[in-house]
Amino acid sequence: MARPDQKLLDELRQLRDQINHHSRLYYVEDNPSISDAEYDRLFDRLLQIEKQYPQLVTPDSPSQRVGATPSKKFEPLPHRIPMLSLQKVTSFEEFIEFDRRVKEGLETTEEVEYITEPKLDGLAVELVYENGMLVRGSTRGDGVTGENITPNLRTIRSIPLRLSDSCSSKYPLLEVRGEVIMRRPDFERLNEALIAQNQAPLANTRNGAAGSLRQLNPSVTASRPLIFYAYGISDTDLEGLDRQSAAVDLLRKEGFRINDRTRLVRGSGQVEERFKALAGDRERLDYEIDGMVVKVDRFDSQIMLGQISRAPRWAVAWKFAAEQAETVLEDVIFSVGRTGVITPVARLKPVRVSGVTVSNASLHNEDELRRLDARIGDTVIVQRAGDVIPEVVDIVPGKRPGEATQVVFPSKCPSCGTKIVRPEGEAAHRCLNMACPAQLEGRLIHFAAKGGLDIDGLGDKLARQLIKANLVKDPSDLFYLEKDQLLPLDLMADKKASNLIEAINRSRQTELPKVIYALGVVGVGEAAARLLAEHFVSFEKLEKTSLDELTHIDGIGPVIAANIFEYFRNEGNRVMLDRMRRGGLALPNYQRTGGTGVLGGKTFVITGTLSKPRNHFKNLIEQEGGKVAGSVSAKTDYLLAGVDAGSKLDKAKKLGIAIIDEDQFKQLLA
Ligand SMILES: [Zn+2]
Repeated sequence: MARPDQKLLDELRQLRDQINHHSRLYYVEDNPSISDAEYDRLFDRLLQIEKQYPQLVTPDSPSQRVGATPSKKFEPLPHRIPMLSLQKVTSFEEFIEFDRRVKEGLETTEEVEYITEPKLDGLAVELVYENGMLVRGSTRGDGVTGENITPNLRTIRSIPLRLSDSCSSKYPLLEVRGEVIMRRPDFERLNEALIAQNQAPLANTRNGAAGSLRQLNPSVTASRPLIFYAYGISDTDLEGLDRQSAAVDLLRKEGFRINDRTRLVRGSGQVEERFKALAGDRERLDYEIDGMVVKVDRFDSQIMLGQISRAPRWAVAWKFAAEQAETVLEDVIFSVGRTGVITPVARLKPVRVSGVTVSNASLHNEDELRRLDARIGDTVIVQRAGDVIPEVVDIVPGKRPGEATQVVFPSKCPSCGTKIVRPEGEAAHRCLNMACPAQLEGRLIHFAAKGGLDIDGLGDKLARQLIKANLVKDPSDLFYLEKDQLLPLDLMADKKASNLIEAINRSRQTELPKVIYALGVVGVGEAAARLLAEHFVSFEKLEKTSLDELTHIDGIGPVIAANIFEYFRNEGNRVMLDRMRRGGLALPNYQRTGGTGVLGGKTFVITGTLSKPRNHFKNLIEQEGGKVAGSVSAKTDYLLAGVDAGSKLDKAKKLGIAIIDEDQFKQLLA
C-alpha cells in the first residue's frame, strides 16, 4: 500500500477542516461563504486522496456523509438513559396545573425558569459522541431501545461528525438528543419526484423524515433533504452544565442547529406569551410543529422532580388545539386517481377537527391499511395537519365493537373492472387502463381545477355526468360543448348550463403556467409549471424543447424532464392539444411581471454575511412576490450583498446587475 508523506497528511487535515467549516456555514448557519463549485472542488480532492490511501479514511471524514453499504435490517440499540415521553396539556389552565405541581415538588412559591421550544413533528433520535467522535446514532424506538441507524445519521449535514477538542476532553461521553425533520418545501419537491418516478407519495413531513431516515440503504437517506435540530443531552450531572439552557448553548457552540425559537422564560405568564407567539408564527414556518415543549431549566430541579412512569415531572408538551379527533369509521371506499393509483378512503361519521368538519380521510395504501388494521365500525383517530388531506392515524382498540368487519383490498378497479396491479417496489396499487372512467374523471377535474384552467362549476359530479353521457372523452372535448347537449343531463337547469358554457369560455383566455399545470403531466405541480413557463415563455417552445434543455432547468429533475418530453412526443396528446387550440384555447406568452407584491417578478441573489440568516431575507422577498435564485445570471435583478461577498459580487458587477446592501433592500420594501 502506498505510504502518504507528511505534506499530504497536512493537506488532508486542512481539507477536512475546511470542508467541515464550510458545511457548517451552509447547513447549520444558512450562510455559505464560498461557491458550490469551490466546495465541490475541496470535496473532490478529499475523495481523491482517500481513494489513493484508503487507510486514511476516518469515521469523522466528511466523505463518510455520502452513505455506507446498505444493511439487511436495523439492529436494536438500547439507550443508556431512557428517552422519556412527555405528558401533554392542551390549555393554559392545564399548564397552570402543571406549573403548580412543579412548584409543589420544588417546595417553592417563586416563579420557575423554563426553557420553551417548538415541538417539531419529525423523528426523535439520539447521537452518541465518544471522545468527540460520533460513534452511534439511533431512533427513539420505545424510549428504552431504539434502532441503530448510525450510517444514515452520518449523511445528515447538520449533524457534526466530530466535536471540538475542548468539548471532548471535558465530556468524553456526550449523548445528544434532537429531532430529524423535513421542511415542507423539500417534502413537496420530494413527493413530486416520487410521483414522477411512479412511486407512492409520502403522507406528510413526519413520514418524509421517518421514511427517509429509516432506509436500509444509507445513500437513499443521503439524497433526502433532512435536518437535525438538537434539543438536549441525556445527562444531568455533567460538570459545568447545570441547566438545560447551558446544555443548549454548548450544543450551539459545537455546531448543532438549535431552533431559533428556543427561549428561556420565567413563570407561567411568560410561557403563555411564548405559546401564543409560537401559535401565531406557525403558519409562517416552513416546517411542521404541533405545539411547544416546556422544560424546567435547572437540572437539580429536574432531578428533584423526577419522573412518573415513563414521563418526566419537569417537562410537558403543550399541544396546539386538537388537530386530532375521534370518530367512527363507517366505510372504506377505494378511489381511483387520475394517474390510476387506487387509494383507500375512510368514510367517517362527520367530526370537527381544528375548525373543519371532516367526513373523509385518507388511508393511503394497502400497507397502511394493514398496519392500522382498521375495521368498519372501529373508532379511529383522524388528524389534520396544515392543508394536508385529513388522514386516519390510529384506531382505538378498546372501542372495537364485536361485529367490526375487516376491510379487503379489491383485486379489480372499482371503476372499470380491470385487474389492478401493484408494481414491484411500490406501495400503491394501480389501474393501468388509460380509458378508465375514474382516471378520465380525475384528469378532467385536474384540468378544470383552480391551479389549472379554473373552470367554475366543473366538479366531480358534473365530470362524472359528462363522461357517462359520452360528451367528454378527454379535456379538449370541453371546448366543443354546447348548451343543448348539457340540458338533458340530470339536474341541469338552463341557468346552470349557461354558467358552465360561460366558465369554459372564460377559461380560453388564461395564463401559461395554468395551461401547463392543467395538462396533468405526472410530477408537474404548480411550482414546476411556473418554472417551465418562466423558462420557455411560449407554449410552442415548450412543446418543441429537447430533453437536454429540460434537464438543465434549475428545479426540474431528470425524471420530470423525461415525463414532460414524453408527454409532447405522445401522438394522442398532440392530437388533443391541437383540438384544444382549434377549440379556442389561447396559449399566451408568459408575463414575467405577474407577481403581486412590491417585488413582484423580481429575481434576487443573496451573498455575503448579513445581519440576519439568509432565510429571513428570502422569506421577505418571497412574501413580496419576488424570487431568490442560487446563482447570478443575466436574469438576476438584484444582488443583495452583505459583508465579505465573493465571486457572486464579481459576477454581478461584470453583468451590470444592481447591487444593493441591507439598507437599500429595506428601501425597496418600503
Ligand atoms: Zn380503472
